[in-house]
Amino acid sequence: MKRFDFVQPASLSEALGAWKPGAVWLGGGTSLVDLMKTGAAKPDRVIDITRLPGLRGIEVLADGATRIGALVSNADLARDDGFAKRFPMVAEALLSGASGQLRNAATVAGNLMQHTRCAYFQDPNAACNRRQAGSGCDAKDGLNEGHAVLGWSEGCIATHPSDFCVPLVALGAVVETEGPNGTSEMPLADFLRLPGDTPERTTALGPDELVTGLRLPAGAEAFAAHARYLKVRDRTSFAFALTSAAAALRMEGGAIAEARLALGAVAARPWRVAEAEAMLAGQTPDAALFDRAASAAMAGAAPSGDNGWKIDLAIRTAARALALAAEGTPDRVPALPASPFGPTKEAQHA
Ligand SMILES: Cc1cc2nc3c(=O)[nH]c(=O)nc-3n(C[C@H](O)[C@H](O)[C@H](O)COP(=O)(O)OP(=O)(O)OC[C@H]3O[C@@H](n4cnc5c(N)ncnc54)[C@H](O)[C@@H]3O)c2cc1C
Ligand code: SF4
Repeated sequence: MKRFDFVQPASLSEALGAWKPGAVWLGGGTSLVDLMKTGAAKPDRVIDITRLPGLRGIEVLADGATRIGALVSNADLARDDGFAKRFPMVAEALLSGASGQLRNAATVAGNLMQHTRCAYFQDPNAACNRRQAGSGCDAKDGLNEGHAVLGWSEGCIATHPSDFCVPLVALGAVVETEGPNGTSEMPLADFLRLPGDTPERTTALGPDELVTGLRLPAGAEAFAAHARYLKVRDRTSFAFALTSAAAALRMEGGAIAEARLALGAVAARPWRVAEAEAMLAGQTPDAALFDRAASAAMAGAAPSGDNGWKIDLAIRTAARALALAAEGTPDRVPALPASPFGPTKEAQHA
């Protein structure tokens, strides 16, 4: 591992002052440290932000929005009873990610800032436009079965690996950031960037800025009674999504008053399509409607390599997630140990 400075600021202003070119922020370290060990990341300075005060709260603000501090762990957020009741599919997505040990260490900001799992990004000897601008893309003619089918460019065909971000985008989450020019905020759906001509820029965050929190807007909890996150993966646990979908319906008198749908593992950011949501609004739930909306959500999808199978699977995943949401959020969703959904399921999965 390359030598680097290690600093542990005690305040936000100290952290921002400690930044210099070549520096990176360290949250839980579950992703960054792996990349440093392999040499895929070679920072000159690591700024450990875990001692910064005021970034660990989960609170309902005066306007009804729910704010989550950047340093709240994935496990603590999923375990927070009030949060899980208001946003069950977010808790479900968190609990479907990684392992219990990783979720205890991983922070919410680190989860959305995590790098792609593209094998060539992780390999410092491979050509990768994301890791090194202009170096090429070994995935294009390489192992690319899991890569993007939407929003990809010739420069990069990688997907965003996060489960957590999929329901966040469906519910309109906003990212709060802090930098030398002060505080700013942006919808997560725009914050996570498609590769285009600049695949090395994966988010809207400047290198000297950091994520301080996330907000779910007032009203997002109105979907709680009919919301599911469905993740399709190679193994029941400890595996990234092949495809996933966050589906949420606000029901009124047996009809869908409003719908939210976002797909994961199909593009460089969670894929939410307003047209698919509009198709659902005002309709009575049924399987044919869900198939049509799911197909609309994947309109324009095209293989970027050996991954054409993903298109059909993503459509089926989205249609199934909508059907599960229509049935109603169960008291106990399929969850991993330490879930807020009850000891019986926890025991089954332990
Ligand atoms: C074996 C394994 C399996 C996994 N499976 C899944 C899975 O199924 N689903 C899933 O969603 N995830 C999965 N993950 C990823 C895991 O969720 C991430 O590693 C974790 O969320 C990253 O959080 P962290 O706090 O440890 O980030 P770190 O490792 O500390 O940082 C990750 C990146 O975020 C940046 N960063 C951290 N905090 C901030 C901040 N506040 N502002 C700006 N930048 C910041 C860092 O500089 C770094 O680039 C898995 C990881 C492993 C190792
Ligand atoms: S797909 Fe993207 S992350 Fe993977 S090698 Fe190509 S440029 Fe790098």
